[in-house]
Amino acid sequence: MSKKSEGNKLKEKLGFSFEHIAGRKPEDIEKAQEFCEGYKAFMNASKTERECCAYVQQLAEAEGYTCFEPGKTYKAGERTYFINRGKNIILVTFGKRPLEEGVRFNIAHIDSPRLDLKPFPLYEKDEIAYLKTHYYGGIRKYQWGTIPLAMHGVIMLKDGTKVTLCVGEEEDDPKFVVSDLLPHLAAKQNKRPLNEGLRGEELNIIIGNIPYQDEDVSEKFKLTVLQLLNERFGMTEQDFTRAEIEMVPAVKAADIGLDRSLVGAYGQDDKVCAYTAVMAAFEIRKPEYTTVTVLTDKEEIGSEGNTGMASSALTDFIEDLCEPVSARPREVYRHSVCLSSDVNAAYDPTFADVFDKRNSCLLGHGPVLTKYTGARGKSGSNDASAETMARVIACMEREGVCWQIGELGKVDEGGGGTIALFMGNRNVDTVDLGVPVLAMHAPFEITSKLDIYHTYKAFCAFYKE
Ligand code: MN
Ligand code: MN
Repeated sequence: MSKKSEGNKLKEKLGFSFEHIAGRKPEDIEKAQEFCEGYKAFMNASKTERECCAYVQQLAEAEGYTCFEPGKTYKAGERTYFINRGKNIILVTFGKRPLEEGVRFNIAHIDSPRLDLKPFPLYEKDEIAYLKTHYYGGIRKYQWGTIPLAMHGVIMLKDGTKVTLCVGEEEDDPKFVVSDLLPHLAAKQNKRPLNEGLRGEELNIIIGNIPYQDEDVSEKFKLTVLQLLNERFGMTEQDFTRAEIEMVPAVKAADIGLDRSLVGAYGQDDKVCAYTAVMAAFEIRKPEYTTVTVLTDKEEIGSEGNTGMASSALTDFIEDLCEPVSARPREVYRHSVCLSSDVNAAYDPTFADVFDKRNSCLLGHGPVLTKYTGARGKSGSNDASAETMARVIACMEREGVCWQIGELGKVDEGGGGTIALFMGNRNVDTVDLGVPVLAMHAPFEITSKLDIYHTYKAFCAFYKE
């Protein structure tokens, strides 16, 4: 063995670098593979916030969680869940310490960018029946043409019946699609800026092409579709106005790469953090501090509304927890710590120039701790304190979690936000921690299995604090 030079010894002592997990913990490659089998199943069953909420409820009940009863005093180790309007689920495991010593919040969002149907969407043009859409969240519109789409949602019929629909996920189900021009005739379209490659009003979904057999009737193509919708769901055209229908990629989660190192799936922002958060909540049975795992909605459109994190739904729930034990909610918040568990942009070697590599998260280097998000001069950011960073890093290091640091791209290159500020505003020490994602907000996003597994480990470590 060659002897290390003085300089190298000093560099080792004083310097720091983040490394690929496979180099540091090769034994975790297999564990990550196994862990992600459950993750892929979860992703396939959870394309929308409602489906995700219902799926997690099922899992939680199997783990011994019972529906929250306001007024009940829960003992340490007891587990309960609370559902808000079918779109949020909160999982609580009561800790040994009183609530006023603080709780451990872990909050991920379960809404993802997609195409929502407009409230009066069905029309026909030149013998094709279409649905008009209005996109939800930050999408790159050109990515949504010519990919198979599935239809998910609920319809409230006039008689009050609630119909749940899901078409396009089974192998022999019909799918839906937005068309795009052929290259032969795209010369003019090719000159549009990329963000107008497909425009909002061009994201029209093909839903039918057979005319209703009646010479006298107009809009025959639309009528065939209405007839099919009525047979299948009991709905009429007016019922679209009482519906929430989301068009999402009709693609299953898959292993990516010959080495199966990555997962490709729709909606990994932020269901990858939701899944790992839920698995960590299940794992920690006797926490010191009460664990509160929140799966929220509406993050992609600013967290507003009564199912988003800006709402008082969570605040009210914490009051409900406090009431039977006469705890003061403000004391709970003051002493709590929160992980705003959301994804960050993984460094992309093909598009290296938008990243500051030193401060970007790399695939396979573990969950990314993001001190601040926001845009320009950190506008709209929670900007975690050094103390909060230290605390979260300490619990990860105690449990041997590989983690990394990252910010969202170069300064002034763009920006984005998470739910962190809403918890910060509630007087909770909050920091972002989550999985790096390539092609974030695309119909098919890419993550690393080792990152997913170590994010789960990080969440377990946080709940063990
Ligand atoms: Mn997100
Ligand atoms: Mn997002």
